[in-house]
Amino acid sequence: MVSTNSLDQHQTSTGARVWRLPVEAFPNFWAYAYLVQVEDWVVLIDTGSGSEGSNAGLEAGLAAEGVRLADLTHILLTHGHIDHYGGLAYLRERTKAAIGVHELDLGTITTHEARLAILSRKLEAFLAQAGIPAERRAELLGMYRFTKALYHSVPVDFTYEARDMRIGPFELLHVPGHCPGHVALKLDDIVFCGDLVLKHVTPHQSPEELTPFMGVRHYLDSLSLFGRWADGASLIFNGHDDPITDLPARIATVAANLSRRITQALDALSEPRTLVQVTEQVYGPMNGYNALLVIEKIGAYVEFLVQRGLVEIVNTKELEDDPGAAIKYCRAELAPSRSTSRAQRQTGAYPGVSSGQRTDGSANVVKS
Ligand SMILES: [Zn+2]
Ligand SMILES: [Zn+2]
Repeated sequence: MVSTNSLDQHQTSTGARVWRLPVEAFPNFWAYAYLVQVEDWVVLIDTGSGSEGSNAGLEAGLAAEGVRLADLTHILLTHGHIDHYGGLAYLRERTKAAIGVHELDLGTITTHEARLAILSRKLEAFLAQAGIPAERRAELLGMYRFTKALYHSVPVDFTYEARDMRIGPFELLHVPGHCPGHVALKLDDIVFCGDLVLKHVTPHQSPEELTPFMGVRHYLDSLSLFGRWADGASLIFNGHDDPITDLPARIATVAANLSRRITQALDALSEPRTLVQVTEQVYGPMNGYNALLVIEKIGAYVEFLVQRGLVEIVNTKELEDDPGAAIKYCRAELAPSRSTSRAQRQTGAYPGVSSGQRTDGSANVVKS
Protein backbone atom coordinates (compact mmCIF):
# COMPACT_ATOMS: atom_id res chain seq x y z
CA MET A 1 0.00 0.00 0.00
CA VAL A 2 2.15 2.90 1.23
CA SER A 3 5.66 3.19 -0.13
CA THR A 4 7.89 5.12 2.24
CA ASN A 5 10.89 5.74 0.07
CA SER A 6 9.47 7.41 -3.00
CA LEU A 7 7.38 10.51 -3.34
CA ASP A 8 5.35 10.20 -6.44
CA GLN A 9 4.84 13.31 -8.44
CA HIS A 10 1.91 13.96 -10.73
CA GLN A 11 0.72 16.77 -12.97
CA THR A 12 -2.77 18.01 -13.59
CA SER A 13 -4.03 18.72 -17.12
CA THR A 14 -2.93 22.37 -16.84
CA GLY A 15 0.49 21.57 -15.38
CA ALA A 16 -0.12 22.06 -11.64
CA ARG A 17 2.21 19.76 -9.71
CA VAL A 18 1.08 17.30 -7.04
CA TRP A 19 3.21 15.22 -4.66
CA ARG A 20 1.94 12.44 -2.43
CA LEU A 21 3.61 12.55 1.00
CA PRO A 22 3.41 9.36 3.12
CA VAL A 23 3.28 9.87 6.90
CA GLU A 24 3.15 7.23 9.62
CA ALA A 25 0.15 8.69 11.46
CA PHE A 26 0.24 6.01 14.18
CA PRO A 27 2.54 2.99 14.50
CA ASN A 28 1.90 0.85 11.39
CA PHE A 29 -0.94 3.10 10.28
CA TRP A 30 -0.04 5.23 7.29
CA ALA A 31 -1.77 8.24 5.81
CA TYR A 32 -1.10 10.55 2.89
CA ALA A 33 -0.84 14.31 2.83
CA TYR A 34 -0.53 16.07 -0.53
CA LEU A 35 1.61 18.98 -1.64
CA VAL A 36 0.21 20.99 -4.54
CA GLN A 37 1.99 23.78 -6.40
CA VAL A 38 -0.22 25.78 -8.70
CA GLU A 39 0.75 29.29 -9.80
CA ASP A 40 1.83 31.07 -6.60
CA TRP A 41 -0.12 28.69 -4.33
CA VAL A 42 1.85 26.16 -2.28
CA VAL A 43 -0.86 24.02 -0.72
CA LEU A 44 -0.74 21.20 1.79
CA ILE A 45 -3.85 18.99 1.74
CA ASP A 46 -4.18 17.29 5.15
CA THR A 47 -1.47 17.20 7.79
CA GLY A 48 -0.99 13.72 9.28
CA SER A 49 -1.74 12.98 12.93
CA GLY A 50 0.65 15.29 14.78
CA SER A 51 2.63 12.39 16.28
CA GLU A 52 6.39 12.90 16.28
CA GLY A 53 6.86 10.40 13.47
CA SER A 54 4.06 11.91 11.43
CA ASN A 55 5.42 15.47 11.74
CA ALA A 56 8.93 14.29 10.87
CA GLY A 57 7.61 12.40 7.83
CA LEU A 58 5.72 15.44 6.65
CA GLU A 59 8.72 17.75 6.93
CA ALA A 60 11.01 15.22 5.25
CA GLY A 61 8.53 14.84 2.38
CA LEU A 62 8.33 18.59 1.84
CA ALA A 63 12.12 19.02 2.17
CA ALA A 64 12.66 16.38 -0.52
CA GLU A 65 10.87 18.77 -2.89
CA GLY A 66 12.75 21.82 -1.60
CA VAL A 67 9.69 23.15 0.24
CA ARG A 68 9.98 24.50 3.79
CA LEU A 69 6.97 24.75 6.09
CA ALA A 70 7.34 28.54 5.92
CA ASP A 71 6.76 28.37 2.13
CA LEU A 72 3.24 26.94 2.45
CA THR A 73 0.53 29.44 1.48
CA HIS A 74 -2.52 27.27 2.37
CA ILE A 75 -3.41 24.19 4.40
CA LEU A 76 -6.70 22.63 3.30
CA LEU A 77 -8.25 19.86 5.37
CA THR A 78 -10.37 17.15 3.74
CA HIS A 79 -12.01 16.26 7.08
CA GLY A 80 -11.85 16.43 10.85
CA HIS A 81 -10.26 13.08 11.69
CA ILE A 82 -7.09 13.13 13.77
CA ASP A 83 -4.95 11.39 11.11
CA HIS A 84 -5.78 14.31 8.77
CA TYR A 85 -5.83 17.42 11.00
CA GLY A 86 -3.61 16.36 13.94
CA GLY A 87 -0.47 17.90 12.40
CA LEU A 88 -2.02 21.39 12.51
CA ALA A 89 -0.85 22.12 16.07
CA TYR A 90 2.76 21.55 14.97
CA LEU A 91 2.37 23.33 11.65
CA ARG A 92 0.61 26.41 13.04
CA GLU A 93 3.78 27.40 14.93
CA ARG A 94 5.95 27.01 11.85
CA THR A 95 3.96 28.49 8.98
CA LYS A 96 1.72 31.45 8.24
CA ALA A 97 -0.25 29.39 5.71
CA ALA A 98 -3.98 30.12 5.75
CA ILE A 99 -5.85 27.12 7.21
CA GLY A 100 -9.22 26.10 5.76
CA VAL A 101 -11.84 23.58 6.93
CA HIS A 102 -15.52 22.88 6.32
CA GLU A 103 -17.95 24.51 8.78
CA LEU A 104 -19.19 21.17 10.14
CA ASP A 105 -15.68 20.17 11.25
CA LEU A 106 -14.71 23.63 12.51
CA GLY A 107 -15.40 22.78 16.16
CA THR A 108 -13.18 19.70 15.99
CA ILE A 109 -10.24 21.91 15.02
CA THR A 110 -10.87 25.12 16.95
CA THR A 111 -12.63 23.98 20.15
CA HIS A 112 -11.10 20.52 20.32
CA GLU A 113 -11.04 20.08 24.11
CA ALA A 114 -14.71 21.02 24.64
CA ARG A 115 -15.81 18.89 21.72
CA LEU A 116 -13.81 15.91 22.97
CA ALA A 117 -15.41 16.23 26.42
CA ILE A 118 -18.93 16.30 24.93
CA LEU A 119 -18.25 13.52 22.45
CA SER A 120 -16.76 11.32 25.17
CA ARG A 121 -20.02 11.66 27.12
CA LYS A 122 -22.11 10.80 24.08
CA LEU A 123 -19.85 7.87 23.28
CA GLU A 124 -20.13 6.57 26.84
CA ALA A 125 -23.96 6.72 26.63
CA PHE A 126 -23.86 4.98 23.24
CA LEU A 127 -21.61 2.20 24.57
CA ALA A 128 -23.88 1.71 27.60
CA GLN A 129 -26.96 1.44 25.35
CA ALA A 130 -25.01 -1.00 23.18
CA GLY A 131 -24.61 -3.34 26.15
CA ILE A 132 -20.96 -2.77 27.10
CA PRO A 133 -20.31 -3.09 30.88
CA ALA A 134 -18.96 -0.05 32.79
CA GLU A 135 -15.38 -1.32 33.22
CA ARG A 136 -14.98 -2.11 29.53
CA ARG A 137 -16.53 1.25 28.62
CA ALA A 138 -13.89 3.08 30.65
CA GLU A 139 -11.19 1.14 28.82
CA LEU A 140 -12.60 1.97 25.38
CA LEU A 141 -13.11 5.64 26.27
CA GLY A 142 -9.52 5.82 27.52
CA MET A 143 -8.31 4.58 24.13
CA TYR A 144 -10.60 7.01 22.34
CA ARG A 145 -9.25 10.00 24.28
CA PHE A 146 -5.65 8.84 23.95
CA THR A 147 -5.66 9.09 20.14
CA LYS A 148 -6.95 12.67 20.33
CA ALA A 149 -4.66 13.87 23.15
CA LEU A 150 -1.80 14.79 20.81
CA TYR A 151 -3.76 17.75 19.57
CA HIS A 152 -4.72 21.11 21.03
CA SER A 153 -7.12 23.63 19.50
CA VAL A 154 -5.82 25.68 16.57
CA PRO A 155 -7.63 28.68 15.07
CA VAL A 156 -8.47 28.44 11.36
CA ASP A 157 -8.47 31.26 8.82
CA PHE A 158 -11.47 30.44 6.67
CA THR A 159 -14.27 27.94 6.14
CA TYR A 160 -15.36 26.45 2.85
CA GLU A 161 -19.11 27.12 2.59
CA ALA A 162 -18.44 30.79 3.46
CA ARG A 163 -16.34 30.91 0.29
CA ASP A 164 -18.93 29.15 -1.86
CA MET A 165 -16.81 25.96 -1.91
CA ARG A 166 -14.25 27.61 -4.19
CA ILE A 167 -10.77 28.10 -2.76
CA GLY A 168 -8.47 29.67 -5.36
CA PRO A 169 -7.96 27.09 -8.11
CA PHE A 170 -9.81 24.34 -6.16
CA GLU A 171 -13.48 23.41 -6.48
CA LEU A 172 -14.88 21.70 -3.36
CA LEU A 173 -17.78 19.30 -2.75
CA HIS A 174 -19.31 18.58 0.66
CA VAL A 175 -19.55 14.79 1.15
CA PRO A 176 -20.67 14.07 4.75
CA GLY A 177 -21.05 10.55 6.19
CA HIS A 178 -17.57 9.30 7.06
CA CYS A 179 -17.11 12.66 8.82
CA PRO A 180 -19.57 15.60 9.11
CA GLY A 181 -17.50 18.24 7.30
CA HIS A 182 -15.84 15.92 4.81
CA VAL A 183 -15.03 17.54 1.47
CA ALA A 184 -13.49 16.49 -1.82
CA LEU A 185 -11.27 18.94 -3.72
CA LYS A 186 -10.93 19.13 -7.49
CA LEU A 187 -7.99 20.68 -9.32
CA ASP A 188 -8.28 20.34 -13.10
CA ASP A 189 -8.51 16.57 -13.75
CA ILE A 190 -7.22 15.49 -10.31
CA VAL A 191 -9.46 14.95 -7.27
CA PHE A 192 -8.50 14.66 -3.60
CA CYS A 193 -11.18 12.72 -1.75
CA GLY A 194 -9.76 12.21 1.77
CA ASP A 195 -11.32 9.04 3.20
CA LEU A 196 -14.57 9.15 1.22
CA VAL A 197 -13.43 6.37 -1.11
CA LEU A 198 -10.31 4.32 -0.46
CA LYS A 199 -8.80 1.87 -2.89
CA HIS A 200 -8.46 -1.13 -0.59
CA VAL A 201 -10.74 -0.66 2.42
CA THR A 202 -14.33 0.37 3.06
CA PRO A 203 -14.31 3.71 4.93
CA HIS A 204 -15.25 3.68 8.60
CA GLN A 205 -18.90 4.31 9.52
CA SER A 206 -20.24 5.68 12.80
CA PRO A 207 -23.89 6.41 13.71
CA GLU A 208 -25.37 9.88 13.22
CA GLU A 209 -26.87 9.39 16.66
CA LEU A 210 -23.33 10.10 17.94
CA THR A 211 -22.48 12.90 15.52
CA PRO A 212 -24.92 14.59 13.13
CA PHE A 213 -23.99 14.34 9.43
CA MET A 214 -22.34 10.97 9.93
CA GLY A 215 -24.01 7.63 9.35
CA VAL A 216 -24.69 5.32 6.40
CA ARG A 217 -27.58 7.42 5.02
CA HIS A 218 -25.32 10.48 4.54
CA TYR A 219 -22.43 8.34 3.36
CA LEU A 220 -24.42 6.63 0.57
CA ASP A 221 -25.83 9.97 -0.59
CA SER A 222 -22.31 11.39 -0.69
CA LEU A 223 -20.97 8.40 -2.63
CA SER A 224 -23.44 8.88 -5.46
CA LEU A 225 -23.06 12.68 -5.45
CA PHE A 226 -19.28 12.30 -5.55
CA GLY A 227 -19.46 9.72 -8.36
CA ARG A 228 -21.24 12.25 -10.58
CA TRP A 229 -19.09 15.23 -9.53
CA ALA A 230 -15.78 13.44 -10.03
CA ASP A 231 -16.82 11.84 -13.31
CA GLY A 232 -14.03 12.26 -15.86
CA ALA A 233 -11.25 12.84 -13.33
CA SER A 234 -8.11 10.97 -14.31
CA LEU A 235 -6.85 10.33 -10.75
CA ILE A 236 -8.58 10.22 -7.38
CA PHE A 237 -6.08 10.71 -4.56
CA ASN A 238 -7.21 9.46 -1.15
CA GLY A 239 -6.05 9.54 2.45
CA HIS A 240 -4.62 6.06 2.87
CA ASP A 241 -3.75 4.19 -0.29
CA ASP A 242 -3.07 4.24 -4.01
CA PRO A 243 -4.86 6.62 -6.38
CA ILE A 244 -8.17 5.35 -7.78
CA THR A 245 -8.41 5.30 -11.57
CA ASP A 246 -11.75 3.49 -12.03
CA LEU A 247 -14.06 5.39 -9.70
CA PRO A 248 -17.44 3.87 -10.74
CA ALA A 249 -16.08 0.34 -10.14
CA ARG A 250 -14.62 1.31 -6.77
CA ILE A 251 -17.84 3.03 -5.64
CA ALA A 252 -19.83 -0.07 -6.64
CA THR A 253 -17.46 -2.29 -4.63
CA VAL A 254 -17.62 -0.06 -1.55
CA ALA A 255 -21.44 0.04 -1.69
CA ALA A 256 -21.55 -3.76 -2.13
CA ASN A 257 -19.20 -4.28 0.87
CA LEU A 258 -21.35 -2.00 2.99
CA SER A 259 -24.50 -3.78 1.84
CA ARG A 260 -23.00 -7.15 2.75
CA ARG A 261 -22.14 -6.02 6.27
CA ILE A 262 -25.52 -4.36 6.81
CA THR A 263 -27.22 -7.54 5.61
CA GLN A 264 -25.13 -9.56 8.08
CA ALA A 265 -26.27 -7.21 10.86
CA LEU A 266 -29.88 -7.70 9.74
CA ASP A 267 -29.45 -11.47 9.68
CA ALA A 268 -28.02 -11.36 13.22
CA LEU A 269 -31.25 -9.68 14.30
CA SER A 270 -33.46 -12.68 13.56
CA GLU A 271 -33.72 -12.76 17.34
CA PRO A 272 -33.58 -9.82 19.79
CA ARG A 273 -29.98 -8.71 20.34
CA THR A 274 -27.98 -5.76 21.67
CA LEU A 275 -25.39 -4.00 19.50
CA VAL A 276 -22.64 -5.86 21.36
CA GLN A 277 -24.26 -9.18 20.49
CA VAL A 278 -24.74 -8.17 16.84
CA THR A 279 -21.08 -7.07 16.71
CA GLU A 280 -19.95 -10.47 18.02
CA GLN A 281 -22.12 -12.24 15.44
CA VAL A 282 -20.82 -10.16 12.52
CA TYR A 283 -17.16 -9.55 13.44
CA GLY A 284 -16.35 -12.11 16.14
CA PRO A 285 -14.28 -11.13 19.17
CA MET A 286 -12.22 -7.92 18.81
CA ASN A 287 -9.54 -6.34 20.98
CA GLY A 288 -8.01 -2.91 21.48
CA TYR A 289 -9.05 0.05 19.38
CA ASN A 290 -10.67 -2.27 16.81
CA ALA A 291 -13.31 -3.18 19.40
CA LEU A 292 -14.40 0.47 19.47
CA LEU A 293 -14.33 0.78 15.69
CA VAL A 294 -16.52 -2.29 15.08
CA ILE A 295 -19.17 -1.33 17.63
CA GLU A 296 -19.39 2.10 15.93
CA LYS A 297 -19.77 0.40 12.55
CA ILE A 298 -22.51 -1.93 13.80
CA GLY A 299 -24.17 1.08 15.47
CA ALA A 300 -24.23 2.82 12.09
CA TYR A 301 -25.59 -0.26 10.26
CA VAL A 302 -28.36 -0.93 12.78
CA GLU A 303 -29.28 2.78 12.88
CA PHE A 304 -29.64 2.64 9.09
CA LEU A 305 -31.83 -0.48 9.33
CA VAL A 306 -34.02 1.22 11.95
CA GLN A 307 -34.32 4.30 9.70
CA ARG A 308 -35.44 2.01 6.86
CA GLY A 309 -38.05 0.33 9.08
CA LEU A 310 -36.35 -3.04 8.74
CA VAL A 311 -35.37 -3.28 12.41
CA GLU A 312 -37.22 -2.30 15.58
CA ILE A 313 -36.43 -1.80 19.24
CA VAL A 314 -38.16 -4.60 21.14
CA ASN A 315 -37.55 -3.92 24.86
CA THR A 316 -39.32 -0.57 25.29
CA LYS A 317 -40.77 -1.49 28.69
CA GLU A 318 -37.37 -2.52 30.05
CA LEU A 319 -35.84 0.73 28.75
CA GLU A 320 -38.55 2.73 30.53
CA ASP A 321 -38.09 0.87 33.80
CA ASP A 322 -34.28 0.70 33.84
CA PRO A 323 -32.30 3.71 32.52
CA GLY A 324 -29.14 1.55 32.44
CA ALA A 325 -30.65 -1.21 30.27
CA ALA A 326 -29.09 -1.97 26.89
CA ILE A 327 -31.29 -1.51 23.81
CA LYS A 328 -32.42 -4.73 22.12
CA TYR A 329 -33.20 -4.77 18.42
CA CYS A 330 -34.93 -7.30 16.19
CA ARG A 331 -35.90 -7.59 12.54
CA ALA A 332 -39.21 -5.78 12.20
CA GLU A 333 -41.22 -8.66 10.72
CA LEU A 334 -39.98 -10.97 13.50
CA ALA A 335 -40.41 -8.47 16.36
CA PRO A 336 -42.76 -9.84 19.06
CA SER A 337 -45.14 -6.86 19.15
CA ARG A 338 -45.44 -5.36 15.73
CA SER A 339 -48.17 -2.83 15.20
CA THR A 340 -47.70 -1.73 11.60
CA SER A 341 -48.18 -4.00 8.65
CA ARG A 342 -45.24 -5.15 6.62
CA ALA A 343 -46.73 -3.72 3.44
CA GLN A 344 -46.92 -0.32 5.11
CA ARG A 345 -43.33 -0.61 6.27
CA GLN A 346 -42.03 -1.37 2.82
CA THR A 347 -43.55 1.64 1.12
CA GLY A 348 -41.74 4.94 1.16
CA ALA A 349 -38.40 3.19 1.28
CA TYR A 350 -35.25 5.25 1.04
CA PRO A 351 -33.96 5.72 -2.54
CA GLY A 352 -31.33 3.13 -3.34
CA VAL A 353 -32.54 0.77 -0.67
CA SER A 354 -34.62 -2.29 -1.20
CA SER A 355 -36.21 -4.14 1.66
CA GLY A 356 -37.12 -7.09 -0.53
CA GLN A 357 -36.74 -10.56 0.98
CA ARG A 358 -34.26 -12.87 -0.64
CA THR A 359 -34.98 -16.57 -0.87
CA ASP A 360 -32.35 -17.28 1.77
CA GLY A 361 -34.33 -15.18 4.21
CA SER A 362 -31.94 -12.24 4.34
CA ALA A 363 -32.58 -8.92 2.69
CA ASN A 364 -30.84 -6.84 0.07
CA VAL A 365 -30.55 -3.59 1.98
CA VAL A 366 -28.36 -1.37 -0.17
CA LYS A 367 -28.39 -1.20 -3.93
CA SER A 368 -24.98 -0.31 -5.30
ZN1 LIG B 1 -11.28 9.70 8.21
ZN1 LIG C 1 -8.00 8.80 7.53
